[in-house]
Amino acid sequence: AAAHGRAFDTARARAKELALEIEEHRERYYVKDAPTVSDAEFDALMRELEDIEDRFPELRDPDSPTQHVGGGVDTELFAEVVHAERMYSLDNSFSREELDDWAARVNRGLGRKPARYLCELKIDGLAVNLTYEHGRLVRAATRGDGHTGEDITANVRTIADIPARLAGTGHPARVDIRGEVFIPVEAFRQLNESLVEAGKNPFANPRNSAAGSLRQKDPQVTAQRPLHMLVHGIAAWQPEDGGEGTEASSQSEVYAQLETWGLPTSEYFRVVKTMDEVHDYIDFYGEHRHDVLHEIDGVVVKVDELDEQYELGFTSRAPRWAMAFKYPPEEVTTTLLDIRVNV
Ligand code: NAD
Repeated sequence: AAAHGRAFDTARARAKELALEIEEHRERYYVKDAPTVSDAEFDALMRELEDIEDRFPELRDPDSPTQHVGGGVDTELFAEVVHAERMYSLDNSFSREELDDWAARVNRGLGRKPARYLCELKIDGLAVNLTYEHGRLVRAATRGDGHTGEDITANVRTIADIPARLAGTGHPARVDIRGEVFIPVEAFRQLNESLVEAGKNPFANPRNSAAGSLRQKDPQVTAQRPLHMLVHGIAAWQPEDGGEGTEASSQSEVYAQLETWGLPTSEYFRVVKTMDEVHDYIDFYGEHRHDVLHEIDGVVVKVDELDEQYELGFTSRAPRWAMAFKYPPEEVTTTLLDIRVNV
């Protein structure tokens, strides 16, 4: 380390400063539902830290915010739930080149091109895990730090989209279903209007309104909020004794399966074969992002084949088989600082 000299010392000091600042923002965003900077500003801090760690890999400490999932548990409000399988974040790309670099890493990891890519919208809500045993909803939890989340079962039971019992047959003994809880853009506008009329503070954005509405001590408050969910993954699948695992061999088949069980899946996903088609999808929703019912902050590209996902695996923070593409922010949300955020 000494060999790096002054540049290294400066980088180390800045990395420490950034790590502290990032963890503070995460606490405000995930636990308090009261961010004080825009997502773009937050992403810029993360990017700066990643750049420093790329230049000086010895600064990439396992405790660095770049190496773990952001979030925590508000133990005053909720009981803790240890996830049967970890909940991950997603790596971000901000340009065509960065996304193509990911595709190249996938090709190297597999030793070939993946069979297909699944493109879907990145829903700007909060991540929730639903546990079903023998087709019954037994628990719902927030992501927390990825290992341990918050028990929000009573709150989630008030959301009409989420079935208490799965439809159809062939339910596993136990399965975790992952998705995003959100408030549609139009409902968000109306909710804020009614909050202002009632002399209360409006929410800063739809993501915040969803998190603030779901993470309530009193589920009666949650019940009055226009919350919806879309599911986008499964984990910790345990078949019935003597039963089979999932018959699905791809992400898109998983969605078809979840749909037959009456779970809310997105209508916006598309399965394609080439990165050119992935870019077409990104361009299309870049132009039509406001025609979608829910707020999106980008697109998620996944390797569709489950065997290929398994081969690629995870880093400490995110799957290697998926990548988020973030659209450039549309306006500078400096006004966020002036808005008192509701909790
Ligand atoms: P992320 O939101 O960028 O990506 C991971 C999450 O995306 C997953 O947990 C998953 O639930 C969700 N997701 C949405 N649609 C999905 C889909 N179709 N398929 C799979 N997953 C999908 O990662 P993150 O680690 O939760 O947080 C980073 C985000 O939060 C950034 O946008 C960042 O700007 C914002 N943030 C902001 C602040 C702030 O202070 N403003 C603080 C922390 C984080």
